[in-house]
Amino acid sequence: MINELTIKNLYRESDLSDSEILDLIQTSEYDKILYDAADRKRKELYGNGVYIRALIEFTNYCKNDCYYCGIRRSNREAIRYRLTIDEIMAACDAGYKQGFRTFVLQGGEDQYFTDERVCDIVSKIRRTYPDCAITLSIGEKSRDGYQAFFDAGANRYLLRHETASDSHYKKLHPKEMKLDNRKRCLFDLKEIGFQVGAGFMVGSPFQEPQHILADLRFLQELNPDMIGIGPFISQCNTPFGQGNYKNGSVELTLRLISILRLLFPAALIPATTALGTIHPQGRELGIKAGANIVMPNLTPLEARRNYLLYDNKICLAEDLAMCRMDTEKRINSIGYKVVVGVGNPVKKW
Ligand code: SAH
Repeated sequence: MINELTIKNLYRESDLSDSEILDLIQTSEYDKILYDAADRKRKELYGNGVYIRALIEFTNYCKNDCYYCGIRRSNREAIRYRLTIDEIMAACDAGYKQGFRTFVLQGGEDQYFTDERVCDIVSKIRRTYPDCAITLSIGEKSRDGYQAFFDAGANRYLLRHETASDSHYKKLHPKEMKLDNRKRCLFDLKEIGFQVGAGFMVGSPFQEPQHILADLRFLQELNPDMIGIGPFISQCNTPFGQGNYKNGSVELTLRLISILRLLFPAALIPATTALGTIHPQGRELGIKAGANIVMPNLTPLEARRNYLLYDNKICLAEDLAMCRMDTEKRINSIGYKVVVGVGNPVKKW
């Protein structure tokens, strides 16, 4: 059985046994102690700084059909869009003026954006903003593709593994999608030299504590620079959106953010939009539980309205200045501060 000492050990060793992790995931008794320990650990490495990233959702076309996702190809209700290179550059320009030094280009797996087109966009951003980090989040590609993106000037890549258990992966994805390939992508990205982000949804359909344990063990194997988790939120036009599947909880998401901070002291961990969607102070609570990244949405409003991965997504109407100010206000209100800069991870220990 676990007790307060278990959390002290986790703090000191950055690890626990399988049975301790399973117990910790399933009890709320130590949440407060856990948040405080995680917050202290983050402050040791990052002080009270929170890094900001400009998120640009540049296409919602997708060839994949993930059962949970609102932009899956079978969703005929989704209004599809893709930004032009000029629109992407305009979003970067506005972001740069607001103090953002990382641009995250996220999208569905849109076949219009061939590796060559992605490289053109990346090179243009790289030439225009040599002092910025460029993050891609555009799904599974060939190793050669990833290498080309890297050579064009991309530095970081976000690709959540979604779940590290094969049986669970098959319940969330159609059979043409393979967990092995997703893992292959993550290891390729790391070898090429990207700062890599993985992660999973909390409370996705059919998720059991054992799956979460497997996720944490997989992350230890991969040892990523960034770990993104957020609650699963059903989207009404997907197979999981017909009222039979509950959303993930704030409590479990926060508990897992703290556990991640203690297992991976140096990781960059975002307080995600999904967390802010299921609770009005979700992102602030995430920061207090150990997260150290926020990713304000810089997608042009017209497009942003249609990048609907899940229902009730927040910030669909805020313009850029509002978004930046609101972020800063929220972060300051809980005693943290926005860091302007590229925001690299600290050296691992
Ligand atoms: N096509 C890219 C980007 C996917 S969207 C890729 O494959 O990586 C980014 C993340 O949103 C996904 O990795 C998934 O974890 C999350 N997401 C998708 N649908 C969601 C939902 N219904 N609820 C919560 N998170 C969701």
